[in-house]
Amino acid sequence: QFHHYSHTLFTPSSSSATHTRRRPHCPRMEISPSRHRRKDKVLIIVGATGSGKSRLSVELATLFPYSEIINSDKIQVYRGLDITTNKIPFHQRNNVPHHLLGDIDPSHGEFSPSDFRRHAGDIISDITSRRKLPIIVGGSNSFIHALLVERFDPESNVFDESSSLSTSISSDLRYKCCFLWMDISFPVLSEYLLKRVDDMFDSGMVNELAEFYEPDADNQTGLRKAIGVPEFDRFFKQYPPQVGPDESERHNPMREGAYIEAVKAIKDNTCQLAKRQIGKILRLKRAGWDLQRIDATEAFRAVLTSESNGGGEEFTGVWKKQVLEPSVKIVKRFLME
Ligand code: ATP
Repeated sequence: QFHHYSHTLFTPSSSSATHTRRRPHCPRMEISPSRHRRKDKVLIIVGATGSGKSRLSVELATLFPYSEIINSDKIQVYRGLDITTNKIPFHQRNNVPHHLLGDIDPSHGEFSPSDFRRHAGDIISDITSRRKLPIIVGGSNSFIHALLVERFDPESNVFDESSSLSTSISSDLRYKCCFLWMDISFPVLSEYLLKRVDDMFDSGMVNELAEFYEPDADNQTGLRKAIGVPEFDRFFKQYPPQVGPDESERHNPMREGAYIEAVKAIKDNTCQLAKRQIGKILRLKRAGWDLQRIDATEAFRAVLTSESNGGGEEFTGVWKKQVLEPSVKIVKRFLME
């Protein structure tokens, strides 16, 4: 029903051609190759891990059916570890095209912010050339920053706490951006994250990690940095998965203790990740990025209480009112601009 917005997916850009001519030559900088007369419209959903970005993106892409989703989670870009990295399962994607979600071969080395800028930039050009709306969704703010800024310097880490904020994060963006920021009060989010890790284990995360285990692997790059891999590599070093526990080993209290320790480390690291991601989002906001905050706290409170009562109806109602409806309003306004 929102098809009629598709003709408004482009917006006149402010004298970008003159900017290009005036810019001094700088070989290290990656500058958008061609300055179009109009900037393409892009919708970006930011938020900490577990904040419901994927769900919202699919719902919006379903309501605005000319949309396609581009993943901006630096770990989910790789093929493999679908449960551990929490990729949205196929049956929940509602036939919405997803790009850079499990497309990259992890054996080809690290997929860098520069790689993301180039690949996602090409995908955006392709999507907009078909007069469709790109929706960028994922928790890696370094990727989102690399993709969106007009001038990107691969050498500088703008989220490095020691660098000066005002000079590092530019608000000069190469697309016409609409940002939705999924925000949840931290105590509620962390309670939800602990539960999510338990659910991931119920879905077979240990078997996935056991298959992925390599005794001599270096966990410093790419997919091997995923939360879960280093934590369980330590466990598998002591209790190798190939051997498989016999009955006596299965109930070995030392083994059980090490297992509980590994799960706890994953929970701690997931909450730490969420905290760091929120810090980075606040830095983007302070740098002048127009992030429109959607407070999903009540919806997450409902999911935590309603599941113990055996139903998700309350969650769905609160989610619609507090998250989906305000988001739809913002996107409609953006597309009409
Ligand atoms: P940083 O500068 O810390 O790398 P970033 O913004 O580039 O931050 P984040 O998305 O915050 O990237 O990811 C940082 C780390 O968090 C990853 O290296 C990985 O260990 C973990 N991580 C991120 N996303 C996932 C995921 N989907 N599954 C598992 N671990 C993840």
